[in-house]
Amino acid sequence: MHKILIFGAPGVGKGTQSQLLSEKLNLYHLSTGEVLREAISEGTELGIKAKKIVESGHLVSDDLMIGIVHDALKNRMNSKDGFILDGFPRTIDQAKALDGILKELGLEDLKILHLVANDDEIIKRLMLRGRTDDNAETIKLRLNLYLDSTKPILEYYKPYRKIIEVNGIGEIEEVFGKILSKLQ
Ligand code: ADP
Repeated sequence: MHKILIFGAPGVGKGTQSQLLSEKLNLYHLSTGEVLREAISEGTELGIKAKKIVESGHLVSDDLMIGIVHDALKNRMNSKDGFILDGFPRTIDQAKALDGILKELGLEDLKILHLVANDDEIIKRLMLRGRTDDNAETIKLRLNLYLDSTKPILEYYKPYRKIIEVNGIGEIEEVFGKILSKLQ
């Protein structure tokens, strides 16, 4: 059973690589950004709460996100051979809560797949992607939030989790090949 957390700056390719990995290894792909975007487009209660926050590039509250991830991992994994978490945790409090969730559900020994890229490349990619939350101002905010709130999670997890680093620069298939070989 694969239990993977894909980690890295916004725009580094987490969504794309998670999609490929989940198809190849039959994993449940849980992207918290996708969950929020779906809720926003469907106009659910969650979507109404999250819309302004997501569009401005800020982080949705820890409590809300922790509840979403807990329920999804508990109820949606079905017949998959594991899961890949994409976009969560984004804060140390989320990281601590994830430890509790994994323990409760008997899903310990999570591996961290850290996709690495430099800021220039990331900004270029985000500008090209053109999602509604991708404009110069929100990109800057999201990168800063990543550096201040999310990246420290690596240091926090380092003493007790396996961290696999992969260079996220290059063709999609090339990056994917490296990920697969490092996961073996
Ligand atoms: P990116 O590709 O830029 O990393 P995501 O699709 O992961 O974007 O997330 C899009 C937006 O959804 C974030 O900018 C944030 O507003 C919200 N979001 C997603 N995951 C979380 C989370 N774990 N905690 C708080 N907010 C989140």
